[in-house]
Amino acid sequence: MHLCVLGAGVIGVTSAYRLLQDGHQVTLIDAAPQAGHGTSFGNGAQLSYSYVAPLADPSIWSHWAHYLFSADSPLTLRPQIESAQWRWLLSFLGACNARQVKSTTIALLRLAFHSRDEMNRLQKNSNIEFSHRVAGKLVLYSDAEGLQSARRQVDFQAQFGCKQEVIDLQRCLEIEPALAGAQRTWAGGVYTPSEAVGDCAQFCQGLVDTMQQNTAFRFLSATTIQRPVMQQGRIQSVQTSAGKIEADAFVLAIGSESVVFAQQAGVRLPLYPLKGYSITVPLDDTSSQQAAPQVSITDLSRKIVYARLDNRLRVAGRVELVGRDRSIPARAIGELQEGVRTLFPGSLGNKNDHNGNDSASRLSPWTGFRPATPSGVPIVGASPIDNLYLNLGQGALGWTLACGSAAVLAAKIGGYRSAIDDAPFRYQP
Ligand SMILES: Cc1cc2nc3c(=O)[nH]c(=O)nc-3n(C[C@H](O)[C@H](O)[C@H](O)COP(=O)(O)OP(=O)(O)OC[C@H]3O[C@@H](n4cnc5c(N)ncnc54)[C@H](O)[C@@H]3O)c2cc1C
Repeated sequence: MHLCVLGAGVIGVTSAYRLLQDGHQVTLIDAAPQAGHGTSFGNGAQLSYSYVAPLADPSIWSHWAHYLFSADSPLTLRPQIESAQWRWLLSFLGACNARQVKSTTIALLRLAFHSRDEMNRLQKNSNIEFSHRVAGKLVLYSDAEGLQSARRQVDFQAQFGCKQEVIDLQRCLEIEPALAGAQRTWAGGVYTPSEAVGDCAQFCQGLVDTMQQNTAFRFLSATTIQRPVMQQGRIQSVQTSAGKIEADAFVLAIGSESVVFAQQAGVRLPLYPLKGYSITVPLDDTSSQQAAPQVSITDLSRKIVYARLDNRLRVAGRVELVGRDRSIPARAIGELQEGVRTLFPGSLGNKNDHNGNDSASRLSPWTGFRPATPSGVPIVGASPIDNLYLNLGQGALGWTLACGSAAVLAAKIGGYRSAIDDAPFRYQP
């Protein structure tokens, strides 16, 4: 079958790879000149297979005032005229209950573990360099109450095969000695030795290079997808800036932009873009390298993640519901810099400007939009249109869930049984 995969972010690229492996002919299309240049570009770099609890959580009900009104809140809501934001928010609040969180966590853990297996398989069959490393992950809790509720989550997840330890401050410092320079303290943490890191953009480009060696694959870069061309309830072709592209079936994977294309085909998607930011600190001398962590760190109180990619430290955070505003305010980048200064002060080196600030440009400030469903469960598989398949809505976990989502999609398209139950990921009108 000839499949056309729309979007060469990590979701589209892994879908294309998996479909090619199944013997299909694949055309991959993206507006950017290279793969992985959308939200997959500067993300937090964490392959967070055991840390999948959704954003929609019952604690939102007791913390909403802090999230919405506090100056140091990691979350921003800027009301938009569009009704999509309000519809999404209402569904999101509806998902903030213990029963939904439990079923979402179980579904995502299964998908994440499947993803890890698929990633291991992919790495055995290809030779892509993307700073991949099983670094372990340490989530820091600032108070004893938070740590106690983390213990309950660790116990719950243990029955699904997660190997995690709840540890005290002293053990945190043993696991990640770079935390010894931190200018604040915390109650303890949850350590997961099996978690990994990797540069998602490098992975996407490497995987496309690998696929280029297969004559059944072609990549149409710098090609904007404009709309579906419908014929008798099916997609006959997609209209692009390079003309019409025909295929037997289409996979929609253009991240949070998928909503408009789906709407043009008559399919409604419950997706909203959740904006976030990152910086990448170059660790270009021995002292900054020593001061930066080797283990992935999540500072839960500030909702900032830190991942070491060779001699770079990727730092990411914030969740903003602000529509499609692509600006990068100095305040957001300042928060990430301040986070680094507090936890790993020496890693920023001495290259400050005349005001003593780390010049922002050397930190590659970046913003991206997590394509999020209200519950946090992605949509993978068939759509109401006969020859349109969906692989979207991986939200804050797209890098982690990509290889597993691609395998579930390929099974659906190929008509064979997926290694995990795909029921939680099916499109629901
Ligand atoms: C701040 C931040 C930190 C994150 N950290 C992590 C993390 O640590 N771990 C993790 O697992 N996930 C993380 N994520 C989430 C992850 O990055 C996303 O879930 C993932 O990148 C989504 O991939 P995608 O392929 O769906 O979308 P994208 O990467 O956005 O890909 C969509 C592609 O479609 C293309 N496109 C869009 N419209 C068109 C069009 N009209 N025509 C042609 N092409 C088009 C774009 O150019 C783009 O390449 C983070 C996200 C953010 C914002």
